[in-house]
Amino acid sequence: MSIKVCKFGGTSMADGSTIQKVANIVKSDKDRRYVVVSAPGKRFSNDVKVTDMLYECARAAADTGNCAAPFSKIRQRFENIVAELGLKMDIGGVLDETEKRICEEKSADFAASRGEYLSGRIMAELLDVPFVDAQDVIRFNDEGTFDAEESYALVARALADKPYAVVAGFYGAYKDGKVKTFSRGGSDISGAVVARAVLADLYENWTDVSGFLACDPRIVERPQGIKVLSYKELRELSYMGANVLHSESIFPVRGANIPINIRNTFRAEDEGTMIVPLSKYRYTGNIVTGIAGKKNFTVIHIEKSMMNSEIGFTRKILSILEENNISFEHMPSGIDTMSLVIDSNVLQLGMLDRLLTEIEQTVNPDHVRVYNNIALIATVGHGMSSSIGTSGRLFKALSDANINVRMIDQGSSELNIIVGVADEDCNRAIKAIYNEFFGEKAKA
Ligand code: ASP
Repeated sequence: MSIKVCKFGGTSMADGSTIQKVANIVKSDKDRRYVVVSAPGKRFSNDVKVTDMLYECARAAADTGNCAAPFSKIRQRFENIVAELGLKMDIGGVLDETEKRICEEKSADFAASRGEYLSGRIMAELLDVPFVDAQDVIRFNDEGTFDAEESYALVARALADKPYAVVAGFYGAYKDGKVKTFSRGGSDISGAVVARAVLADLYENWTDVSGFLACDPRIVERPQGIKVLSYKELRELSYMGANVLHSESIFPVRGANIPINIRNTFRAEDEGTMIVPLSKYRYTGNIVTGIAGKKNFTVIHIEKSMMNSEIGFTRKILSILEENNISFEHMPSGIDTMSLVIDSNVLQLGMLDRLLTEIEQTVNPDHVRVYNNIALIATVGHGMSSSIGTSGRLFKALSDANINVRMIDQGSSELNIIVGVADEDCNRAIKAIYNEFFGEKAKA
């Protein structure tokens, strides 16, 4: 018998009827042995996610020592779910205890984790399998980073005598038991950790779309779906904003070559996207697999004659970033030039001026220019390395659309061509590249 670990996201857990769908999916395949759940998400577009309501409870608890008002909406949501599912569990008692502890702990992480805790308890009851509290099996070290090896061992031990179980997503704990969450969307990571710990044959990630699309459907109407992606392609696309899956969730499964299948709870018959190691990747015939873009970068362009022969030049620049605790995204360079591409959000409160002054003083450049509001667009695909003329087609498509390319960076893997354009050109650029590689002309 093989092992499938299934993670269900917030929209799959939104109310009683969607949770029933989840249970039907799990029960339809006996290999679906370990289920990882998110907190109830949005039921309709302007609904509020339970996790967001819980953060509000944490704020109220910290400010006033009482969170009864915001908690009442959460209480109602879970009581409705349990009633809709016809479960006999004492949800009132569990909710009373949860409210009390949120007030006592006064911790945003603890409060936020209760969404997954409660939906995990309900799912375990519905499937009639044991519930595993992530607090006991997902470990963070003292610095707050995820302790992978310890967590794999703890999960494996907890599940060794349980052929079926439900594990709460999104959180874990420090060694002393204090609850800590992953970043938002982190149940994807929890699912991957469980899959890795039990050496699953497949990690199924069930959401509300039928897998990855070749680009954002808000930019191109009904873009082509992606059937197969490699881990590397996924990393590039999700890093650049294709947010079907948390970008950190590949690391646990990648280490054990466990494929990920993105599936749609609301169209369970769709095959979705398979994400596989390179060794199992088969060329699909598409030169480009997907296109993704992200706005709001700042580019610091530095020029100095003979930069190429000045030993230590780059190190000095990078030390300035390190000392100011700034990470950069890309660093394209020429003979006498280099550019630092930095997420503008990290350059608040005079940080840019400070960096410029320190660069000026440390390396005495000939010119430094700053470009704001730059969008980066990644065109990703293993097919590109073996197809002559791909970059020619890409740049022609951009020039035909009258888009000024401000920066180019081709990753050393030939898997990714990144172009920088003005923020306002971002969507048009994605459209132009999509039409070039997936549009009517490309099919002809
Ligand atoms: N419930 C958490 C969030 O809204 C984690 C998750 O759904 O993966 O971010």
